[in-house]
Amino acid sequence: MAAPVPVRIPVAWRHSSRALGGMKQSFPDIVCEQCKKMLARADVEHATHVPPPESLLAAGAVAVPNFGWFCSQECAALYERANGRRIFDRNAAGEVQYYPKP
Ligand SMILES: [Zn+2]
Repeated sequence: MAAPVPVRIPVAWRHSSRALGGMKQSFPDIVCEQCKKMLARADVEHATHVPPPESLLAAGAVAVPNFGWFCSQECAALYERANGRRIFDRNAAGEVQYYPKP
């Protein structure tokens, strides 16, 4: 038998939801990165969100991998403008898009 591995509690389990980088982090609510509107509540117990991400995408919210969410294209554009540069990928229609609409 191998020596017992000490259990390490990941720092991310503490309730700091603003961690950058989308690494292994806690299971935060989904909040618009621009206007801070809450889009979905984290259901930690079931490892899902209410409403689910598919519904958010279908309703026009924008998910950016390793970054976060925007409630709308407007907020994604505002965020870019505030940073003074193009940050996000666009689809052919010029919308910020990483995931196809369900
Ligand atoms: Zn917003």
